[in-house]
Amino acid sequence: MDFKLSPELDALKRTMRQMVNDECIPLEPTYLSNPPRDGVDDGGPTGIAEAVMGIVGTLPQEDWERLEKLSKDTGIYTAHLPEEYGGGALGALGHVVVDEESHRSIVQLPTSPVPMMLLGACTPEQEERYVWPSIRGEKNYAFGQTEPQAGSDPGGMMETRAVHDGDDWVINGTKMFISGAASADYLLIQAVTDPEKRQRGGITMFIVDNPTPGMSFDPIRIWTNPTKAQQFYVRLDDVRVPATAVVGEAGGGFQLGQRWLVHHDRLLRGSMALGILTRALGMAIDWSKQRVTYGRPISDRQAIQWMLTDVYMDIKALRAITQETAWRADQGEDVRVEASMIKYCAAEWGWRDIDKVMQIFGGIGETLDMPIPHWYHMLRHARIGGGTSEIHRFVMARGLLSGAVSWEA
Ligand SMILES: Cc1cc2nc3c(=O)[nH]c(=O)nc-3n(C[C@H](O)[C@H](O)[C@H](O)COP(=O)(O)OP(=O)(O)OC[C@H]3O[C@@H](n4cnc5c(N)ncnc54)[C@H](O)[C@@H]3O)c2cc1C
Repeated sequence: MDFKLSPELDALKRTMRQMVNDECIPLEPTYLSNPPRDGVDDGGPTGIAEAVMGIVGTLPQEDWERLEKLSKDTGIYTAHLPEEYGGGALGALGHVVVDEESHRSIVQLPTSPVPMMLLGACTPEQEERYVWPSIRGEKNYAFGQTEPQAGSDPGGMMETRAVHDGDDWVINGTKMFISGAASADYLLIQAVTDPEKRQRGGITMFIVDNPTPGMSFDPIRIWTNPTKAQQFYVRLDDVRVPATAVVGEAGGGFQLGQRWLVHHDRLLRGSMALGILTRALGMAIDWSKQRVTYGRPISDRQAIQWMLTDVYMDIKALRAITQETAWRADQGEDVRVEASMIKYCAAEWGWRDIDKVMQIFGGIGETLDMPIPHWYHMLRHARIGGGTSEIHRFVMARGLLSGAVSWEA
């Protein structure tokens, strides 16, 4: 058994680390000392880069553009995409390795914002109009599944309906918590098209251009970012879209969303937590050696040492399950249950660990010109967003009790 990354992937990881060290981390003080403008997210001067990263802070436009150019010139921008989409075909393992490096800085290298669930599912016309512009970073999207009554049980409780009217579909309903909706160029809206079948062939995904008559947005303020709303109610009031707005098969929209959530959202929560914790542990070790109380550095105290070792153990365990599961996904295995495990561990361990790092830093760890409070927000949110920890435990229990997964070696 060889636990080493391939020489190519290892080289890419090192290159990525160097770029993050040289280009991203030095920008953190500027980024964090310039909070986002008040109001709602409207895309910002540089559009996608700011929409994705401008949650915590902002950068001068020339810095955004330099980072985007660097990412494009080095191929990082599209490295995670399949070859037929001009990507580097990194696969799931390569993607989590690169993504971990990227998350070592709160200023991330921009990557192509294309919704992966569209790849392979679209018509040639949809590819031309949405997929390729998104790959190039010219168009941004929002994903609309959650509703006021449908969060943890979206298939069973979804109320948004789409009905045929001639050649068109007419959509009515309300979506809630939709990230980046108001500034998106298009929304991927799930709607019930067969109430009998619901998530088993009765939910369809539609591409809805923004703006489209009948679609409106109301901002929702979230505690992690009180000054600038990035989440929205999406009101759909007799929104008329053509038959060509359906993604894939009518009735196949729930599965499309779930497949994407398993392979991208959940695996990448693992690499997100790993990147954050790896950097945070290094910072905590350095700090503990230089902070002196009662005549000795705090690193001499067992109370501090145990917090450092707790974080270290979680990093090693999380990296092992994240990389193994990504590797299995690349072999074509069904990793739905393991992806839930990663999502759960990234969120629960990540949150408890960043809390320990904050504790080691004392008061300085709570200051907003440090990345720590922002990482705390991100990891605390991970216990809810993308499926709550309780729901991911439920998915794991279902796998265990049905015999779908084995715990034996
Ligand atoms: C900042 C933010 C961004 C988001 N972005 C998006 C987005 O872009 N697109 C999108 O579609 N959605 C988005 N969401 C929605 C998110 O996915 C949901 O909030 C999440 O899935 C939880 O659903 P809920 O809030 O309705 O909680 P609920 O389903 O109401 O759950 C409430 C509590 O009950 C628990 N619970 C529920 N069912 C069970 C059960 N069977 N057994 C045990 N416990 C249970 C839950 O774990 C939770 O603790 C976002 C949410 C936030 C806060």
